[in-house]
Amino acid sequence: MGEKIGFIGLGNMGLPMAQSLLSEGNEVYGVDLNKDAEAALLRSGGVIGLSINNIIKQVNFIFTSLPSMKAVEEIYLGEEGLITKGREGIVLIDTSTVAPSLNQKLAEEAKKKRIHFLAAPVSGGVIGAENRTLTIMVGGPKQAFEQSQPLLNILGENIFHVNEHIESGTAVKLINNLLIGFYTAGVSEALNLAEKSNINLAQLFEMLNVSYGQSRIYERNYKSFIANEDYRPGFTLQLLNKDLGFALDLAKEHELQLPVSELLLNIYKHAENEGYGSQDMAVLYEKVKNDQTK
Ligand code: NAD
Repeated sequence: MGEKIGFIGLGNMGLPMAQSLLSEGNEVYGVDLNKDAEAALLRSGGVIGLSINNIIKQVNFIFTSLPSMKAVEEIYLGEEGLITKGREGIVLIDTSTVAPSLNQKLAEEAKKKRIHFLAAPVSGGVIGAENRTLTIMVGGPKQAFEQSQPLLNILGENIFHVNEHIESGTAVKLINNLLIGFYTAGVSEALNLAEKSNINLAQLFEMLNVSYGQSRIYERNYKSFIANEDYRPGFTLQLLNKDLGFALDLAKEHELQLPVSELLLNIYKHAENEGYGSQDMAVLYEKVKNDQTK
């Protein structure tokens, strides 16, 4: 028999990750505010309906995959929180992307109770979660990392322990997402220019795919979203916007000026305010197009 594992947050990322753990013979106890998500875990052989308090008593590892700082803070430090109710020796692994300052706050609180805490943000999207090809960048104590490695190896293909600083994995993740923000904006503008220049987008892809303009984000955004005019996420524009904000906060902490990144954040903020937030980030291409007719 495998491990007993808690999994809080069964959304676009969390559900397939929890299902992967199940498929390797582990027992997974899931919690989500969304009952449909819990029902999906149940259908895959998981256990639902237990309180967090109860799960803490049953398992040695708990993963979280949550959409916001507020949700992460509530789930870890709220009245019924994982750290509030946690016990010595349990390993808590947050795969959400949050500000480095929250990683630090949770690590300090966890340490007081001898709880092991890792901040382990992931990259690779929903497809990576489904195919178990995620890249996972982990910050925190090496010993807890080594203990968790067999489980992390189920979830992803490339697992890195960045260093013992709890926020180190998050820094790498935010740098990655800053680049994703750049590429997505670049692809959105470039493809609009191509269309105005009477270039067929499928043909353009073929040509740029063997040129230096190629990128994994171009391939993803074009093939999975723009070409099908279908922007169901994926990775929502509002989640990207959140991460760009954290990246710029990190830059401020270091008194580093990043003027192009500031501009980028503004573009995504506008897009979110105009109602594009819940669609995949590739929808920025449509915003650029719609802006021409304003
Ligand atoms: P999501 O919104 O699809 O899933 C979050 C889930 O958490 C939802 O099912 C929601 O109901 C649940 N939830 C929220 N508050 C809760 C609470 N208090 N208790 C229990 N459940 C709660 O988001 P997602 O796309 O799965 O992203 C999750 C995290 O992973 C985010 O931090 C995101 O930045 C990060 N991430 C996402 C992607 C991606 O491609 N979607 C890629 C890498 C990292």
